[in-house]
Amino acid sequence: MGSYGQAVIPGFICRLCSKQKKIVIHLYTAKAKKLDLLNKIRLLPISLDKYDNLPKTVCESCIEKLNAQYQLFMRIRKSENIYMAHRRYHTNGNCPYECPLNGADLGE
Ligand SMILES: [Zn+2]
Ligand SMILES: [Zn+2]
Repeated sequence: MGSYGQAVIPGFICRLCSKQKKIVIHLYTAKAKKLDLLNKIRLLPISLDKYDNLPKTVCESCIEKLNAQYQLFMRIRKSENIYMAHRRYHTNGNCPYECPLNGADLGE
């Protein structure tokens, strides 16, 4: 009885967690584009093709994690730019006041 109920749950498979979910977003829709999903997924170690025979839907819970991961990625990239600029231009203790690393202990 219970198993019958489970078997007929209509849902879509999430491409990222492979779970069957009722609420998903299709990756090639305006909504997905608005959420920038394809760009965010590009940062993951998966390859995605519009014409592969794999799920094209992503669940809400994965989108939430994807957004958090994307924010972390962007933050890391921003930091990396700071470090690169610091290493390139602020040698010999010439850190300008604007440099976030000015006066910081870098633990070197
Ligand atoms: Zn998912
Ligand atoms: Zn600096």
